[in-house]
Amino acid sequence: MSLHGGSSDAPPAVGNVISSSGNGVAAGDPSRPVAMVPSQRLRLTPNREHKPDTYDDLELEFSASIFSSLERHMPPSLLGVARDDKVKFMQEILLKYLPQGERNRVQRHREYKQKIISNYQPLHRELYSLNPASFFVPAFLKAINENTEQSFRSIMSEPSPGIFTFEMLQPHFSELLISEVENFEKWVNETKFRIMRPNTMNKYGAVLDDFGLETMLEKLMENFIRPISKVFFTEVGGATLDSHHAFVVEYGKDKDVDLGFHVDDSEVTLNVCLGKQFSGGELFFRGTRCEKHVNTGSHAEEIFDYCHVPGRAVLHRGRHRHGARATTSGHRINLLLWGRSSVYREMKKYQKDFSTWCGECNREKKERQRSTIAATKLELFRREGESTA
Ligand SMILES: [Zn+2]
Repeated sequence: MSLHGGSSDAPPAVGNVISSSGNGVAAGDPSRPVAMVPSQRLRLTPNREHKPDTYDDLELEFSASIFSSLERHMPPSLLGVARDDKVKFMQEILLKYLPQGERNRVQRHREYKQKIISNYQPLHRELYSLNPASFFVPAFLKAINENTEQSFRSIMSEPSPGIFTFEMLQPHFSELLISEVENFEKWVNETKFRIMRPNTMNKYGAVLDDFGLETMLEKLMENFIRPISKVFFTEVGGATLDSHHAFVVEYGKDKDVDLGFHVDDSEVTLNVCLGKQFSGGELFFRGTRCEKHVNTGSHAEEIFDYCHVPGRAVLHRGRHRHGARATTSGHRINLLLWGRSSVYREMKKYQKDFSTWCGECNREKKERQRSTIAATKLELFRREGESTA
């Protein structure tokens, strides 16, 4: 199964079902050079002192944060030029990396979103810009403000390696978000607007980015999830998350019941339970795997089940294999944010030993070390025998 829908009618992003040979990411053309004119090459190392412009307010073909991070790589002579000229320069580079088919898909998706946003009347305007004090619980805010591994650890538990859980959302915020989603779905039913579902695996639920919440969720990722991911998920691009896919999924009677075993099309996944009353619906995890090893068995220490608690978040690598058991009664609604790093995805194409986080790659490496040691010991023993004979 492909991770990216090929046609405009296909859902935009897809959970990679395990036991199919899903491949990674929409590919650019690696044979194309990055530099334009020799004097206007991108710098290999970013200029950390330079404070990039913000691009949030512009209608761009790529996420605003991609422009902000790419700006640090611009030739020094261009750093001071007008923002529009910087956009032109960067846009030209970025477009080289996006095949025409993908570009058309992006364009169609932008029109689709525009159509929704200009027709749908939001119910709770206060959700559409990030207000940390009313969205998040105080302990979470405090930990983020302190911004240290210690402060994050103080609010988190790590019940299984690489799975972090913590209290995150205020009950009132969850209620408002649920009510907004219900209002959106009512509008969808009334207008018979054909919406795209969050991915190929969920028939119910809605993409929050498509009806106006994209900017708020981008801030949520940049200011709240990226700092944590930078500490706990550096090896999968946690420090450079620059785009996201955010949606809600709904389980229960007349909704999706369960969710098959899969990996996400993300570097880091945030999964927060919004409510309501339900039983069942546990998340089950079965170890982190690279593409080559995605279908291998799991080991006792990798088996972990998690029960959702409203307001509580789970943060894990996208490649951490998981699924959701049946929600046996009531309704459960979860907010999902798939954080992606374009830098990480680009580097992954060129680097061989990239899967230090894969449980199976690690096991193979240890096995190789063990057999090398065993062979060396055997050889020493043999030589000793020869010399004493
Ligand atoms: Zn592996």
